[in-house]
Amino acid sequence: MGRKLAAGNWKMNGLNASLKEAQALAEMFPAPKVDILLCPPATLVASMAAALAHTKIDVGGQDCHMKTSGAHTGDISAEMLADAGADYVILGHSERRADHGETDAVVCEKTMAAVMAGLKPVVCVGETLAQREAGETLEIIRHQLSASLPDAVDLSKLVVAYEPVWAIGTGKIPTLEQIAEVHDDIRATLTARYGDTANDVPLLYGGSVKPGNAAEIFATSNVDGALVGGASLKAADFAGIITAL
Ligand code: 13P
Repeated sequence: MGRKLAAGNWKMNGLNASLKEAQALAEMFPAPKVDILLCPPATLVASMAAALAHTKIDVGGQDCHMKTSGAHTGDISAEMLADAGADYVILGHSERRADHGETDAVVCEKTMAAVMAGLKPVVCVGETLAQREAGETLEIIRHQLSASLPDAVDLSKLVVAYEPVWAIGTGKIPTLEQIAEVHDDIRATLTARYGDTANDVPLLYGGSVKPGNAAEIFATSNVDGALVGGASLKAADFAGIITAL
């Protein structure tokens, strides 16, 4: 089955002083059994990558532009993230989709840009509460996958994260049956499109993952890891999640 990955998304949190949390985490996991990724805000990518260069922890960005360079004030390209030492980039997070109007087509172009730059894209999908209550969850996620992922993608680099929008930062998580239903459907959708190699694409669950609920989530069908927000900011909390994987 797929690689196991514990990914932390620091979102718009973290100053230089926070790098000590990343270093503390690296010291706790000198030889981790799973892949560990931290995605700090863009201002910290280069310094975190330098601080963790000789550790087993990878660093990623939280977004990139679809172009490699040009007149795009405030944006950062995948190539620049790679140049700063990033290995991964989160793409299509629901906060980007909501705050910046990112469509599936935009996410698809960014995914291609990331792969071209040698980054591993962590492509996020997930339904809103209204969509879940309307019984549209699987349909929405199939559509997001179909339109956000390019036809030609190096599956050995791809990571997909299922993040129900209503579970992010709320302390609410879907039932384990609901998580399994979505993850099984994502796996089936990917293998139908890309073939059996898609069995190795890590499928992360994200949304209110904490040390206390991580083990049961990780025991769920087709869950290969987590994309963690709040509980990734402190090394001790994130360590509890990594250990559960
Ligand atoms: P929380 O873990 O804070 O709910 O955030 C999840 C998330 O959005 C990770 O990308």
